Amino acid sequence: MTDTIFDKIIRREIPADIVYEDEEILAFRDIAPAAPVHVLFIPRKAIATLNDANEADATLIGKLVLAATRWAKSQGFADDGYRVVMNCNKDGGQTVFHIHLHLLAGRQMHWPPG
Ligand code: AMP
Repeated sequence: MTDTIFDKIIRREIPADIVYEDEEILAFRDIAPAAPVHVLFIPRKAIATLNDANEADATLIGKLVLAATRWAKSQGFADDGYRVVMNCNKDGGQTVFHIHLHLLAGRQMHWPPG
């Protein structure tokens, strides 16, 4: 398993603006925000891409989504709305190979995405 920049953030080897953490999940602000609110929710467990997740990871991936929705509610923008995105491999635009869920909010999102 390749070590990624997110593994370094989990180990506190490089800084990040962490907004939430528990035993299984870490969330921090994206270094290049694509919206006024742009937070990445990642599992501590290293899974390179969504293609590498299996049945045993189902609960963990569900927890990623619920951690994001809970945090959105706690920040007061859940009713206005937000977007969650998980990119997979080249065509999905994935650049960091440790699965992560983008939480984007604070502006009107458009569809289809770029
Ligand atoms: P993706 O393109 O879906 O793999 O998303 C990777 C995201 O990680 C991008 O939005 C980057 O801006 C973000 N990113 C890369 N390095 C860091 C970092 N050191 N701290 C916070 N976010 C980062």
